[in-house]
Amino acid sequence: MSDFSKVFLRKNELLDYLGLEDSKIYDSEPDFAMRVPFSYAQKIKKNDANDPLLRQVIPTVLEHEVHEGFCDDPVGDGSAGRDSGIEQKYEGRILLIAGSACSVKCRYCFRRNETCTMPSDLPERLARYLAEKGSIREVILSGGDPLMTQPAMVDQIFESAAKYDSVKTIRIHTRVPLTEPERIKLYMPTFEKFNRRFNEVIVLHTNHANELGGETPEAIAMCRATGIHFLNQSVLLKGVNDSAETLAKLSEKLFDCGVLPYYLHQLDHANGVAHFEVSDEKALQIMEGLRRKLPGYLVPRLVREIAGQPSKTPIENN
Ligand code: SF4
Repeated sequence: MSDFSKVFLRKNELLDYLGLEDSKIYDSEPDFAMRVPFSYAQKIKKNDANDPLLRQVIPTVLEHEVHEGFCDDPVGDGSAGRDSGIEQKYEGRILLIAGSACSVKCRYCFRRNETCTMPSDLPERLARYLAEKGSIREVILSGGDPLMTQPAMVDQIFESAAKYDSVKTIRIHTRVPLTEPERIKLYMPTFEKFNRRFNEVIVLHTNHANELGGETPEAIAMCRATGIHFLNQSVLLKGVNDSAETLAKLSEKLFDCGVLPYYLHQLDHANGVAHFEVSDEKALQIMEGLRRKLPGYLVPRLVREIAGQPSKTPIENN
C-alpha cells in the first residue's frame, strides 16, 4: 500500500504518526467512526495536540455530551426527500445524494447521525425528476462526498442532466481536494467532457488555511484550467477557526488558489457537536474584524441554516 492510499481509522495510529501521547479526551470507540486520509494527516502539525486540523478529525469524549436544542436532523433533511436520493429545498435547484461515503469524517458534521445512501439508479431517477419538473436550472451533487463516488457514476449523472436544456449549472460540494487531492484526476475526463455544456462549480468546504497545503493548490489549478469555478464554504468552529486573524488568512489563501469565500456557517445543532459552538455575539465580532482586514470580496456571509426556511438565513447586527 502506498502512503497515499493509507487511511487512519483508529485514533492510536493517527496519534503515533503525529508523535502525540494518548489522552483521556480522545475516544477509542466513537459512535461516528474516524476516517483520516494520509494526505490530510500530512497537513496536521506533528507534536501539537491543539492543531486546528487535528481537532476537526479526532474523536473525543465530548461528542457523547447531550445538549438541549441539539438533535439528529438539525436542518430537516429527513423531510426533504433524502430517501429518493433527490432533495428539493429551494426553487430551481435540486440536491442529489451523489455519494454514500466521505473522505474524512469531520467531527462537527451535521449529518453524523444519519445514514447517507446514494441510490444505485440515481442517474435514471434524476432523468425522471428533470423530465417531470422541467424548470430545474441547477443540479447540486452532495452526499457523503460526490468525489468519493465511482467516476463512471459521476459521469452518468452529468450525462443524465445534460439531456435537459433547463439545467445550466452543475455544482459539486466536496472536501476531497483538501483531503485526497490525488483523487481529482479521476474526474477530470468528465469535467472536461461537459465544460462547454454546463457552468461547472466546485464548492470546497475549507475551514482553515492549513488545509490548502500539500498538493491541494495543484489539484484546484488543474480543475480551474478546464474552466471550473471555485467557491468556498466554512463552518465557524471553536478552537479551529474562531478568530478574525485565522479566517482572514483562510480567505487570502483561498484567493491565492483561485477560490472565492462565500459562506461562513454557524454550526448546525447536531447531537455530538456542541463543543464546537461559537456564540452569535462572538461570530458577529469576528465578522467585524474580517471586514477591517479584508477587501469586501474576500469576506464571506455569516449564515445559519434553519429547517423549513426557503434559503440560508443571514446573521447580522440589528
Ligand atoms: S465531508 Fe461533509 S458530509 Fe462528510 S463528514 Fe465532513 S462535513 Fe460531513
